[in-house]
Amino acid sequence: MSATTNHLGFSLIFRHVPAACLIVGTDAPGYTILDVNEAYLLATKSRRESLIGQSVFSVFPDNPGDAASNNTSRSAWSFGEAIRTGETHILANYRYDIPVPGTERFEERYWTATNTPIKDESGKVIYLLHSPADVTEYNRLATNEAASIAELRSHRLQLEVAEERARLAMASSGLGMFDVNFDTGELVTSPQFDLIFGFDEPRPYEDYKLAIHPDDRELRLEAHRESMVSGRLFYEARVAPPSGPERWIRAEGKVFFDVNGKGLRLLGTVLDITSERMAAVEQQKLISLADNSVDLMSILDLNGVNSYINQAGRNMLGFVSEEDVKRIPVSDLHAPEEYDRVRTEILPAVIRTGRWSGMMMVRHIYTGEVFPVFNNCIRIDDPVTGKPVAIGAVMRDMRPELTAKKALADSEQLLRNITTAAPTALWMTNAALEMVYINQTWLKWTNSHYTDNMKGGWLHYLHVDDREKVIDRFRSVNGRTNFYDVDFRIIHADGTVHWCTASGQPQYDDNGEFTGYIGACVDITEQKSLQQQKDDFIGIASHELKTPVTSIKGYTQLLEQMLTDKGDLREAALMQRMDKQVNRLTNLIGDLLDVTKITAGKLQFNETVFDFNPMVRELVEDLQRTTVRHTLVEHYEEAGFVYADKDRIGQVITNLISNAIKYSPGSDEIVIRTCRQDNHIILSVEDFGIGIAREKLERVFEQFYRVGGEAQQSFPGLGLGLFISSEIIKRETGKIWVTSEPGKGSTFSFQLPILD
Ligand code: ADP
Repeated sequence: MSATTNHLGFSLIFRHVPAACLIVGTDAPGYTILDVNEAYLLATKSRRESLIGQSVFSVFPDNPGDAASNNTSRSAWSFGEAIRTGETHILANYRYDIPVPGTERFEERYWTATNTPIKDESGKVIYLLHSPADVTEYNRLATNEAASIAELRSHRLQLEVAEERARLAMASSGLGMFDVNFDTGELVTSPQFDLIFGFDEPRPYEDYKLAIHPDDRELRLEAHRESMVSGRLFYEARVAPPSGPERWIRAEGKVFFDVNGKGLRLLGTVLDITSERMAAVEQQKLISLADNSVDLMSILDLNGVNSYINQAGRNMLGFVSEEDVKRIPVSDLHAPEEYDRVRTEILPAVIRTGRWSGMMMVRHIYTGEVFPVFNNCIRIDDPVTGKPVAIGAVMRDMRPELTAKKALADSEQLLRNITTAAPTALWMTNAALEMVYINQTWLKWTNSHYTDNMKGGWLHYLHVDDREKVIDRFRSVNGRTNFYDVDFRIIHADGTVHWCTASGQPQYDDNGEFTGYIGACVDITEQKSLQQQKDDFIGIASHELKTPVTSIKGYTQLLEQMLTDKGDLREAALMQRMDKQVNRLTNLIGDLLDVTKITAGKLQFNETVFDFNPMVRELVEDLQRTTVRHTLVEHYEEAGFVYADKDRIGQVITNLISNAIKYSPGSDEIVIRTCRQDNHIILSVEDFGIGIAREKLERVFEQFYRVGGEAQQSFPGLGLGLFISSEIIKRETGKIWVTSEPGKGSTFSFQLPILD
């Protein structure tokens, strides 16, 4: 048989097979009709000439009356699939209405088409065999329960199918139903089924498969494979429709087999279980919330049995397992008298009013420890009937809080005891410098009440003459960073006057904001009176010493003169040395007397106008005579006149130059300068001696202060000269200062206002 004969023979067979067939080219997207058989022409009521050479889609366009129809694209997709996979592709149960000849009308028809690829020797697809089967009648039966049962009754399998479907339909309103015919690959779905998958009309089987969430597709396939063995289908999966939210479905089905055990059909249901799933997730969230709470959370049934206690609660009360919760009676969780209260008071109150909250005692089930909890109870009502169904409780273990409170109270008590017992008055202000705390000691001193001292009240207990000074000092620390330090007097309850010194440290919060001062106030009456005694003693002693020393000086000078006149020159020289020592003594007494006068505020000043430089020159000349080792170098600039006590200023200069000589034994030069700066005359004395350490510089002007250390020890002195000098300069409205470097020397300077 030749190939042509063969071809012809097949062509004849093709033309006359009873199934409707089209041979279509693979020329997408047109898909030209190459041949058509009789059965096809009959089924579609068309003529061969109008089809051959035409595109499938131009001769069978979508039904113009049915806007929703998209069969063209579905067929094109099915053709494409058959070409792509090389396998027969089935397009199940689609509607394609055909014209009623001689009228404008269309007739409603449903089709299931198989598209079979025909390949050449190399395996390339060269034609498609398109064979649509009219399933309109079957559909009518499948969607019409009564009809299908009646008409399928004759066949056992069909009866079984119908019965199962009826059973499912009855048992499951709201269920989506599906029916797969394994022979034809045809899938019939109910509208509810389509809806669950996000479709508003039936779709090809493939569309439903694709609607399953990619992560769940394997699970579904596995369930289907399993169903072919067990006969039962069951799975839960997510559906991810192209639009709209993801849903959870539960699919169940039954497979029907033929006598050989070959699967024929699968009937099943699909249920939207999204809300069920969500509720389970929500419940899980709530349970994990409860389990992670630090408070006890429990649910008590109305019959008095705990049905749930969270992890924190189980730990708190000593439950080792969840079973214990239901097993151990509530009465075990309280001491007997407390359980009575729970039973007769608390639970009835919750049932009656809906809630109860308060402190109660609970008992650890194993250790027996009874401890306090704060309990918040609520009645839980059935949302439908409104009847109480359980009691919920949230309990906080109060032990840590009570321990912390006690610790705080203890430490507060301790602090109060300390501050009350302190011999010093303690105080605290706020940022506005208003007194906000003052301790018992101050109240005792001033015989006042706590509240009377608050804000500015404490000032009333100060000596009238000191109030202004203290207020000024307070105002001056408004910069808030300074250390506050002031002396004042208060009058005690017994009328005695007491000296106090107050000091305070500025306080800051975490942000560095000033919050006020905390300070102390010390009674320094004793020190003050000792100081007074010392001053009095020095005053009396120096005064008493002055007269005899003056007499000794007089007699010494007289004796020296007499011995010189007699020619006893050696003795006369001894008298001269004695006179020198008497001079030193006189100077010391003079200094002591000056200090006494200064502290008593009685240092007398005799102001006159004088030319500054000549006064200095004269003094330097005299002092040069007292030293052989040092040369006093003079650098005078035009200075001018001053109005001051000439002798006292001279005393200062003498002191500075004497110190320069005394504290520079290793050098031989001292430089004295005067100059004019703005409205001032400045005098400075520079030496190249032992110098002074930086931290001691300011202190050298204090009374009795002497710089300690090995280098200084060998120098005699009382530490009064600079104190007196600085007091004099201050009184003359001038300023005195020093710059120095240890080992290199010092420069002491003062300035006085120029008289223009
Ligand atoms: P003093 O009688 O001790 O000299 P002063 O009041 O004159 O008393 O001086 C106070 C202290 O200052 C001295 O004891 C000394 O330690 C220091 N001092 C004063 N002048 C100088 C100086 N030129 N060089 C180094 N130290 C000095």
